[in-house]
Formats: sequence, structure tokens, C-alpha cells
Amino acid sequence: MPFQSLNIIEPILRSIKQEGYEIPTPIQKEAIPIVLRGTDLLGCAQTGTGKTAAFAIPILQLLHATKTYDRKRKIRSLIITPTRELAIQINESFLAYGRFTGLTTTVIYGGVNQNPQTSTLQKGVDILVATPGRLLDLMNQGFISLRDIQIFVLDEADCMLDMGFIHDVKRIIAALPAKRQSLFFSATMPAEIIKLSNTILHQPSKVEITPSATPVDIIKQFVYFVDNGNKTSLLIDILKDRDIKTALVFTRTKHGADKVVKMLEKSKISAEAIHGNKSQNARQRALANFKEQTTRVLVATDIAARGIDIDDMEFVINFEISNIPETYVHRIGRTGRAGAKGTAYSFCDADEKAYLRDIEKLIGKKIPVVDDHPFPLIDHHPVKAPKQQRNNSNRSQRNPTTSTSDVNSNKKKWFVKTSAGTR
Ligand code: AMP
Repeated sequence: MPFQSLNIIEPILRSIKQEGYEIPTPIQKEAIPIVLRGTDLLGCAQTGTGKTAAFAIPILQLLHATKTYDRKRKIRSLIITPTRELAIQINESFLAYGRFTGLTTTVIYGGVNQNPQTSTLQKGVDILVATPGRLLDLMNQGFISLRDIQIFVLDEADCMLDMGFIHDVKRIIAALPAKRQSLFFSATMPAEIIKLSNTILHQPSKVEITPSATPVDIIKQFVYFVDNGNKTSLLIDILKDRDIKTALVFTRTKHGADKVVKMLEKSKISAEAIHGNKSQNARQRALANFKEQTTRVLVATDIAARGIDIDDMEFVINFEISNIPETYVHRIGRTGRAGAKGTAYSFCDADEKAYLRDIEKLIGKKIPVVDDHPFPLIDHHPVKAPKQQRNNSNRSQRNPTTSTSDVNSNKKKWFVKTSAGTR
């Protein structure tokens, strides 16, 4: 089914074509007509499914139909999302799909000087993409009013909760007009997310996207047993393979990320880190360098890497294995996107064997072991008690079946569940 059959207006069809999209992804096929009807939407889908276009395209179309000729544009659609990287990506999508509509869009997030953001806002915009903290901050300073919002999007709701944004989100919702259209997206739907969605949505239609092929099926995965002290040497050894053009390396801590970067640089391997202690500009720069392949290795913590969409990135290396098994699936899902090839290597020391077992239980298969490498594990006896650390994790909050999906190719098969609601 082509995009034309979704009754999308010509200026948007033109930009979609420029983006190279030929057919709508399942969430787009389901969600676009719902949103165009003016109905609220509850979407269970995650990044990688094409969900940004699923809300951006109909929002642009609805706002285009009610274009105002006021001297100063008022914010008529607000999208909130948990991380700065996601906010930037969503804004880029609105800019791309809306380039022939005459509508304006901007993005605000914390960690950078607010002045360029406020001066853009003062000129007036139709669409605002924001992270919760900076939005509230600028609302409190009187730079933003949500009085004219017609369409509100809450993106990555489960991640918002995980990151402790629930109170901010509630304050934002309280400032929205009662009469509005609301779209709510979450990768997982635990009870507290359903409860939150009930406070926002009015008789929503539901769309649930469960890709049949998960990253776990598509991505080649290997584990290296290695002592902690030899992990850097192993990484450097693996990176001798010039076929590895770029690699995204995960560490558990910010400090660990910086340490890996230093060691790689000593070995003349270009590397940069992204994590919460870096300024937003430094993070964006590192990401841009990595995308352009001027930096070969990007070392990231989990929060910083959430939702990052990098085309043609083939290698993910888990320098440290997460104690939360679902995190493994999120991490490896950064590769193998849009049907591309993907390979994930995990470095497992004695302490991490228990985490590896949890991961294998979650994904339902054994990860093949690479035995033939120069730094085989010598110390087989864990120093710490992994059990206790594992009990401290919040993995019980997550739903493993829905968090294993992060696939964005039209080539794959999808299962879509919808149930219509009326307004
Ligand atoms: P998202 O889930 O919104 O993060 O989108 C994931 C990726 O899929 C992005 O790189 C989009 O550019 C791409 N994409 C979105 N819709 C389509 C489509 N209909 N056809 C091909 N690629 C798409």
C-alpha cells in the first residue's frame, strides 16, 4: 500500500518521496488515519518502527489544514520526549516531512544556553519538540504558553518514567488545554504506564506493533570470556580488523566510558564518549563525527545511547555487560537497523557470567562463545556477589516480549493489533 492511499496531502507526499520512503511501515499505516480523524492514540511501539513519521505526518497535515495567518505563530502541537538526542531527531523529522508545508518547528532541551531557543520561540512556531525539564523551565520564565496546543504527543512514556520525569510530565499535562488531541507512545505497557495514559487520553484507538523479527534474530552475537583487566587489550585487538569501520562500545558508567576512550586514543584509535556528564554540544559533536565516520569508536552509556539511530552501523561491543538483561537487547538494537547487517560482541568477565545467563534466558538462546582470542579468561572466580547486584536492578518493571523489538525495515513482517475508539 503506497502513502497516497492514506490521503496524505501533496506537499507531504513530496517530502516523503524525497526521504526515499516508498511504503508506510505498519505503525504508519495504522496510526496515520487514526490521527487524521482527530482521535486520541495509544501506541505500543518503539524507536525503529517508523513511529516518528506515524505522528509527525498527520500532525503536519492537520496543522496545515488549519493554517493561521496571525502575525505571530502560536505553538499548536507539542511533542515531549525524554532525551535530548531523541528530541533533536524528532525535530529533524518534522523539518524533513514538513519542508513544503510552510509550517515551522523548533526543538528545546537542557544542557545548553537557552538564549538561541528563546529567541526562536519569540518569533513564533507551529510545532515544538521538547524535553520535559527545559520545557517547564521556559514555561516558568514566561517564554512558552501551552494555551493553544491542539495536538499533544507524549513519546517514550516508559523511558520518561524510568528517568524520573513523571512529576514534570504531570505538570506539563496540567498546563495543556482540556480540549485537545493526545497521542501516547510507549515501548512497554506496564500498569503504571496504562494508568498515566488514562489521565491523558480520551477514548483512544490502540495500535500495537510487535515486529516478528527482533534484533535478537537478525544480529550476529558473540561472547568473549576475558578478565576485566584485559578488556581494553581485547578491544584494541578486535579493532585491528579494518573491516570494522565504526563500532559503538557500551560501558556501564560514565567514568568507564572516559577510561576506554583514553586507552583507545593511546593506541591511536579515534574515539569519543557520550554520556550525561558531557555538554549537549559535545554529545552532538561526538555523534556527528561518529556518523560521518571521522571518529571510529563511540563509547556510550545506556541512557545517552537510547533511541540513537545511526545508519549502517554494523558493530556493537558490550565492553561491560549490563545487569539488566533488557538493556542488552536495547544495546544490540542500535545495529542491524533498517535491515542492515549487525554484529554484537560482549566481553564477559567472571563477575558478569550471571548477567550473561540472565540475558540468554531473556533472549531464549545461547550466545556463541569465541574461544580463539589472545586474552582468555584466567580468573574464573567472581569477586563480588552478582546475585545481590542483580536483585538491585529494576528489570521486573519491564516486559521482555515488548522490549525486544527495535526493527525498522519495511522488508520485515510485522504484527499489528488495533482497536478503534471514537471521540
Ligand atoms: P523511528 O522509529 O521514527 O525512529 O524511525 C526509524 C527509521 O526508519 C528512521 O531512520 C526513519 O527515517 C526510517 N523510516 C520511517 N518511516 C519509513 C518508511 N515508511 N520507509 C522507510 N524508512 C522509514
